[in-house]
Amino acid sequence: MFRSSCFKTDVEVDVYHAPGIMGHILSLEALEGSFGPNVVPQFSGVLPHVEIGGAPSIELEKIDGLFYAEDSSYDSWMGRYGSNRCLSGKKVREELRKVKLAITKQDSNLGVLWHKRYGHLGFDALAKVAGSDMVTGFGASVDDVVAAKGQFCKPCAEGKQTRQPHPSTGNVTSKRLDLVHMDLCGPLPVKSWNNAKYWVTFYDDCTKFSEVRCITGKTVVPETVKEVIKLWERQTGDKVRRIHTDRGLEYVNEELASTLRDMGIFHEKTAPYTPQQNGAAERLDRTLEEYVRTMLADSGLPQEMWSEAVITANTLRNVSPTKGSNLTPWERFIGEKPDVSKLRVFGCSAYVMIPKQQRHKLDPVSVPGQFVGYAPGMSAWRVWIPKDRRVRISCDLKFDEWGVRGSMEFDASGSDPESGVV
Ligand SMILES: [Zn+2]
Repeated sequence: MFRSSCFKTDVEVDVYHAPGIMGHILSLEALEGSFGPNVVPQFSGVLPHVEIGGAPSIELEKIDGLFYAEDSSYDSWMGRYGSNRCLSGKKVREELRKVKLAITKQDSNLGVLWHKRYGHLGFDALAKVAGSDMVTGFGASVDDVVAAKGQFCKPCAEGKQTRQPHPSTGNVTSKRLDLVHMDLCGPLPVKSWNNAKYWVTFYDDCTKFSEVRCITGKTVVPETVKEVIKLWERQTGDKVRRIHTDRGLEYVNEELASTLRDMGIFHEKTAPYTPQQNGAAERLDRTLEEYVRTMLADSGLPQEMWSEAVITANTLRNVSPTKGSNLTPWERFIGEKPDVSKLRVFGCSAYVMIPKQQRHKLDPVSVPGQFVGYAPGMSAWRVWIPKDRRVRISCDLKFDEWGVRGSMEFDASGSDPESGVV
C-alpha cells in the first residue's frame, strides 16, 4: 500500500518486495493494469506525482532522472521500517536507490541525460568520463552512455557536430601558470541580460584550465586581467610568469602594461598581422562558441542568456577530458578531482525553494525559473527568474530536467529591465 502523506491518499497495488533487484518493480504500465487507463503521471512541477482517477495519489521523487515513490509512501509499503520517522530522508533515499521502486519511462535515458548535463559532450568522451575515475559524482555507467550513443540528439544535429576532447595545444610549458593565453571575443550581436557585450578568456597553457569573464566594454579588460591573475595565483599558490595576447588595444595599453610591470609578468604579443599565432586562445573561443550555440538551441533560452551559457560551457570544459591526459583541466589546475554530481541540464525548469522563515503561510513554497549555471566551484546553482529578470543563486532547488523547455515566457513586459542584478 502506498500512503501519501502529502495527498492524504492510500493506494493498494500488488507488488513484491525484492531488495537489490535492478529491474522495474512498479511501472506505469503495471499501475494501468491495476487501475485502467485513468492513471496519469505528472512528472513536471514542484510535486511530481501519479494521478489515479483524477486525484493525486502517489508522490514521486526524482533522483538522477529516475522517479521513485516518495519516502512516506515507500515506508508504509515496506512495512519493515514501521513509521517513516524511524529513518532519515537520506537513509530512505539510499534504500530507494537499491530497490528502484516505481521507475518510469525515463530509466533508459541516463546516458542522454549526462550527455546534456555535460553540454552535449561527444559520447566517446563521455564514456571515458564514465569509465574512469576522472571525476566523482558521475551518475551513469559506460553501458548507459554506450546505449545512448545511437540516439538522435536534435541540438547536436543543429550544432552540426558533437564535441570531441579538446585538442592538445602542443603546449611547451610544464609548469602551472608559466604561460597564460588571453583573448577578447565580441562584440556579440546581442547584449547579454546583464549588459555584457564581450567575453574574455584566460587559458593556462600547462593545465588547459580556463576562465571566462563577460564584460560590458573593452575598457574593462585591464582590470579583468588583473582580477583573474590575482584569483589564479591565490587558488594555486603559483605565480603567473608570462601572458600571451594579440596586439588589440585592449591588451596593448599603458594601464595593463604598468599592472604587469608591477606584478613582474612578461607580456608576449603575436607578431603584427598574424593572429593565428594566438592559436590556443582562439581554439578555446571556438570551442566555447560551439557549446553556447548548442546549449542555447537545446534550452530554448533567449540569446541574451549567452553570458550564462558561456560561463557554464567553460565550467563543463574544465571537467571534460582533454586529449593526451587522463586528468581533467580542473584536477590539473586545482589539484582535486571535480565532483560533477551537481551538474544539471542547462536551461531546464528549476524551482527555487523559499525557506519557511522567508515566506508567509499562503505564499508559494517555490519560485519557478530556468537553470542557467553554477556558482564558482560548483557550490550552488544559478537560476534565471524570468518574472524578476534576475538570477538567483540557491542550493535548494527542484529540477525538471526532462520537462519541455524553451516554453517559458521571456517577454519582459511588466518587469523593469533596469533592475537586472547578477
Ligand atoms: Zn546532444
